[in-house]
Formats: sequence, structure tokens, C-alpha cells
Amino acid sequence: MQPQSIEKHSLYYNIKDACESKYCPICFLLDKKERQYIESIFYEYVNDPLLRKKLRDAQGLCQGHVKLFLKYGDAFALAIFANDLVHNFIEDWNEHIKLSECSLCKSFMQNEKRLVDAFVEYLALEKFWQALENSTGLCLQHFYMTYQQCPDKKMKIRLLNWQKQMFSRHKELLGSFIDKNNASCPHDDINVDEGQSYQVVWHLLKK
Ligand SMILES: [Zn+2]
Ligand SMILES: [Zn+2]
Repeated sequence: MQPQSIEKHSLYYNIKDACESKYCPICFLLDKKERQYIESIFYEYVNDPLLRKKLRDAQGLCQGHVKLFLKYGDAFALAIFANDLVHNFIEDWNEHIKLSECSLCKSFMQNEKRLVDAFVEYLALEKFWQALENSTGLCLQHFYMTYQQCPDKKMKIRLLNWQKQMFSRHKELLGSFIDKNNASCPHDDINVDEGQSYQVVWHLLKK
């Protein structure tokens, strides 16, 4: 894709805007998309036969997505889904049954691939690098994924250097936070960025 057409792409702006969050921009968009998808299931797809089939084929969801279902879903719809799945187990279970993968994991991985592909494509744009300078860096999982996908060595080195630079900023904030907690200076001397530093970094330490 040409740089001019990239800049017209809404995904480009979504990733650029996500760089202003305190999260890995790819994680930020994935979480948002996932929350919207789950909310849409509860608003629109409770009686959708295709969704019911996907849930039955996997006999539910993985642990992480059960937690999100319980967090974002409403009680009535959760009961309807659960009733359907329990009924299906009682009526149709057999030991040769082949379970499919959690349908929300499948959609998560598709979205993740799309975002990682786009992120790497946008690395060809200097304007995108400017947005990255103001970001928090990638989480390790998405750093490794994008690094693997960089088209050449030069881009890989640039990405690695940028990630190290972002981590250095976090290291500085963590260092101040630790010093101020150890030292005799009052805790109200700790600024917002220092106070949030350990949470921001723990969100990035996912592989
Ligand atoms: Zn991430
Ligand atoms: Zn899942």
C-alpha cells in the first residue's frame, strides 16, 4: 500500500491514537475490540443460531473468555447460553466428540494478526514513527510478533532500538518511584507517571 493510501486508512488512525494510551497500542485496540464484540453478542446475538453452534462446538469458552463473558454479559443472556450448553452436554455428549477452539480466541487471533500486519506495514511511514515516540512501547508479545515480521534487518534494528528507548523511559520512572519509596522524602513527591510506572510496565511484560 502507498503511504498516501495508508494515511486514509482508519486502522492507521486507530493505531496512532492508541499510541497515546498508557498501554501497548496493539493490546489497547485488541481489548477494545474484544469488549465491543462481547457487548454486541449480548445486545444482538443471544438468539443467533450460528453463535450458539460455535459455543456448542467448543462446549463453552476458554477460562479467560468466561471471565470476560461474566464481566460484560447480562445475567439473563448468560443463563440462556449456559442452559443451552448444559442441555447440549446432557443430550449429545459422547467420548469421541471433537471440541473446537474457543470462538472468542479465534476472533482474537484474527484481530491480532490484522493489527500486527498493519503495524508492520505502517513502520514504512516516518509519521508513524513520530506517533510511536510518544507511546508506551509494545508489550513483549507484540514486540516479538512485529519484530519477526519486519521485512528487513534495518527495520528490525530500528524497532528494537525504539523498544529499548521506551523501556529506558519506564526504567527511569520505576527508578524514581523506588528511590522515593526508599528514601526519606515524602510520598506526595511521587508524580503521577512515577506512581503508575509499575502498572504500566507489568502490562507490557506479557509474552
Ligand atoms: Zn500488546
Ligand atoms: Zn478464548
